[in-house]
Amino acid sequence: MSATVPAKAALGPFENSRGRDSEVKPNIKDLSREELIDWLDQHKEPSYRSDQIRRWLLQRGVFSFSEMTNLSTALRDTMGREFSISRLPVLLKSRSRDGTEKFLFGLADGYSIETVLIPEGGRLTLCLSTQAGCGLGCTFCATAQMGLRRNLKSSEILDQIIEVQAVMGAGKQLTNLVFMGMGEPLANYEQTLKSLKDMTDARGGLGFSPRRITVSTVGLVPQIRRLMEDTKVNLAVSLHATTDAVRSRLMPINRKYSLAELIECCRALPLQRRKRITFEYILIQGINHEPADASRLSSLLKGIRCKINLIPFNPYHDSPYQPPTPAEVEGFKDLLMRRGFQVNVRQSRGQDVQAACGQLWADFRSERVNPKSSYIEHGV
Ligand code: SAH
Repeated sequence: MSATVPAKAALGPFENSRGRDSEVKPNIKDLSREELIDWLDQHKEPSYRSDQIRRWLLQRGVFSFSEMTNLSTALRDTMGREFSISRLPVLLKSRSRDGTEKFLFGLADGYSIETVLIPEGGRLTLCLSTQAGCGLGCTFCATAQMGLRRNLKSSEILDQIIEVQAVMGAGKQLTNLVFMGMGEPLANYEQTLKSLKDMTDARGGLGFSPRRITVSTVGLVPQIRRLMEDTKVNLAVSLHATTDAVRSRLMPINRKYSLAELIECCRALPLQRRKRITFEYILIQGINHEPADASRLSSLLKGIRCKINLIPFNPYHDSPYQPPTPAEVEGFKDLLMRRGFQVNVRQSRGQDVQAACGQLWADFRSERVNPKSSYIEHGV
């Protein structure tokens, strides 16, 4: 870490735009399209205004009603009296040598969440958080150490996109969204679903194709089924082990939904044409990368239209595990490829800025930075 920017410079714009009583007014971004239409109807305004307003909020990312110049002054004033427009202040921003950028955002109640921007080839992917902390206790995950602080609101999930887009400016556009930041999206199902609706709504929402959105889960079986019925987004399942004994040790959720149950659920999902489930598999030294693991993995996934992402464990401060050697990773990959699977090795991005989930928070805590008053920019 390097220079600390004076607190005033970091907080100025947010203080100005929030206004004094923003906490008590409902945030307009928490209204669904339908709720906003109802509100407009009560105020004798036509329903098409809903998409106009939502385009200002979600596509243009404005932070004041006065900027909504295609609406009457009277409507802008009424909205300003009844609603606030949320912002997520950036508490910490870091950029890795590989181009990955990490944002630590402050929530209104003092908790903080992480969002990671990953440039890769022609893609610009944003990795979103759905909870402050996480309650699932996976033993390899830095976020798990925090425990669950709270679920994010849909607006707080969307604001991660809006704020990062504002930092990038109009010249750069996000191409992909992945729910692989802090938290378990399917443990915050309603708000995750609500945010997905706004992300994929082309009329007034962000207009992402569902094919460019991936939701990653520890494997909450009933919610996986619901997600596949409610949306057309891609599914990624964090598998990480091939026996119940090892998986339960790594992921306590396995005691509730066993490997057999999870795999059965995945096998039965109605996948649209050309769609595949992604299985994520962290490789951890001495735990899950023997040839017998590769063999069991291929038996488990046989017949499921899928791809496998191998992720060498990304160590963090005090982490109990280590990754295998690169040769061991390649060996594991080869065994799976010989069985006909599509396999990618996903190197953790932004390792020099602690970009694995939960790590920036851990870093932040250890620096004892006051989240309300400081902003730190890492060296590029
Ligand atoms: N709760 C969801 C999404 C958040 S984690 C899930 O578990 O899928 C996103 C991915 O990062 C998951 O596959 C998770 O297992 C992986 N991950 C977490 N900590 C990691 C670490 N230290 N090294 C490598 N991958 C990690």
